[in-house]
Amino acid sequence: MYSPEVEKALESAGAHIGDIIRIQRGSEVYEGILLPRSEYGDPSCIVIKLSSGYNIGVKYTPGTVIKRLRKAAEVGKFPAKKAERKPSLPPVSLIATGGTIGSRVDYVTGGVYMCVKPEELLYLTPELEDAVYIERMRSPFLVASEDLTPDDWKEIAEIAAKELNTDVRGVVITHGTDTMHYTSAALSFMLRNLSKPVALVGAQRSPDRGSFDGAMNLLCAAHYAARSDIAEVAIVMHGESSDTYCYAIRGTKARKMHTSRRDTFRPINDLPLARVWPDGRIEALNTKYRKRGSSEVYADTAFEKRVAIVKA
Ligand code: GLU
Repeated sequence: MYSPEVEKALESAGAHIGDIIRIQRGSEVYEGILLPRSEYGDPSCIVIKLSSGYNIGVKYTPGTVIKRLRKAAEVGKFPAKKAERKPSLPPVSLIATGGTIGSRVDYVTGGVYMCVKPEELLYLTPELEDAVYIERMRSPFLVASEDLTPDDWKEIAEIAAKELNTDVRGVVITHGTDTMHYTSAALSFMLRNLSKPVALVGAQRSPDRGSFDGAMNLLCAAHYAARSDIAEVAIVMHGESSDTYCYAIRGTKARKMHTSRRDTFRPINDLPLARVWPDGRIEALNTKYRKRGSSEVYADTAFEKRVAIVKA
């Protein structure tokens, strides 16, 4: 709740949380989505989300004019929609498993929620539809990666193998970043006779932030899956802190090195397999890699869970 003064001004403008509003204070004009006041926020500061993604607070003073521009109902809807088939674009399959990359902002409450439909990923990365054709979207579960177990790796491996044996060029798997390097290692061992690229991808920052990295990561992962000749499981995420390129890092050599940096994944004792640019360019950086082929992939998912580590 804002202060009674602000609530009254919002009410007389017909403005509710989630609506796009204009706030005029003398010569200053601000436009954005009206957000709820945060628990510790100043009750006389109206919080709006600018089109850049950043949130600002505008102090309400006498004479401030508020106008509602659009209703929330017209702004925050996510209708189910499938991309149109473009025969010129390489087909890939997408397997959504959860994590920050599969979350979305609800502008009515200001909160970030896990997407319930994998199609919602397309709303965060509309460029994807011009880069590849998403032949199929599969989603065995949508959970945070810290909740995954080896049984989930088996399920992902089985679905991925099935998809790889169709006519798609490669597979993209969206995943939480916290345990992505465990899944990438597990899939590297489980997917036998691999003949196409498999990209694991996530996001370090949620879509409500101007620095959301998931869109560029997803685009680069799709390029890796569709256009690279590297038939290996790789993590495809930001290569440096700016939105320039991603690295494709071999699944068994990747490690998450930082909790919030966008270029958190680094190859350990190895070079990245490739640099992947959002415009689709792929530069191989590692001369040794498995090449694309035509062998049938199978999932060898035998896994012994009762293993202990003894540290000496
Ligand atoms: N901890 C969650 C996960 O690993 C969210 C963090 C993230 O996606 O980076 O799925």
